[in-house]
Amino acid sequence: MANNPMCQICGEFPETTEHSLILCPWALAVWFGSSTGYIPEKQKITTLEAWILEIQKKSSLLSDNSEYVMQCVFFHLWGIWKHRCDVVMRHGTPNPRTAIECINRSLGEWLNASGLLDRTSPPETIPSPIPTWQPPIFPSVKVNVDGAWDNVTHKSGIGVIVRNHRGNSIAGASILGNHNSPIEVEADAVVKGLQLAAFLKIQNIIIEGDCQELFHALNNPSSSPNWRISHMLSKVFHLKTLFTGIKFHWVPREANRVADAAAKLAKRRLCSQDWANRPPTSLISILRSDGLPGPPVV
Ligand SMILES: [Zn+2]
Repeated sequence: MANNPMCQICGEFPETTEHSLILCPWALAVWFGSSTGYIPEKQKITTLEAWILEIQKKSSLLSDNSEYVMQCVFFHLWGIWKHRCDVVMRHGTPNPRTAIECINRSLGEWLNASGLLDRTSPPETIPSPIPTWQPPIFPSVKVNVDGAWDNVTHKSGIGVIVRNHRGNSIAGASILGNHNSPIEVEADAVVKGLQLAAFLKIQNIIIEGDCQELFHALNNPSSSPNWRISHMLSKVFHLKTLFTGIKFHWVPREANRVADAAAKLAKRRLCSQDWANRPPTSLISILRSDGLPGPPVV
């Protein structure tokens, strides 16, 4: 029988499941220091079950990564528990770094064994404050673009999605191609985005993408760009003249997920596809999860 209800590690709080696995200071360090970068909102954590359900709900909104996120969460809980037991039994001090290494190792082994590694990439953060896609302000239309590139076959996929101020998708494309480097795919994606917007006779556009180098070059035409994209950049500057208003926005990856998925779709299916206001079904859940007031027009 425990003779003291307080946490045997920090000695500051009662040793509840939630405290032991999530909120004990050393456990917080594990969550934050690991690939999850997670910082729990202490006041919102009631029970472990409710917390798991909440994470599950948020991660399913985050689309294709949800299975991975949940496995990652469970491996963290399990790793923290094992390390904690070890420390308590040996009367030692917890070491978040060791625990993180253990978690990464066992998670990696599991992903390898279950074949999940190919399908998923680690999320930058577990659902907390993640940047999301923002609709443009009327009358602007937003065009998100992204590229995917295979370094073995040099096959590339370009994703373009055009959405209005209501967040409704107007048009999009998944285009299969061949490029010599990822930056060339990204630059070509901007060209394709502009061509599609010009075809739709859109006047005011915001082009959004997550390639920092490229968007820096687009916004600083006088800087000397990467030679691989100089040809494509001159195409972009020519196409620019077709619009009354045009802006180039760099956004973090999380805010560019539909274009990213559309690019991967082209690469995976090995075919190109354009759509008017009816996106492929595999993109609909991501479109919805961009946190818009209503479902997009499909
Ligand atoms: Zn504690």
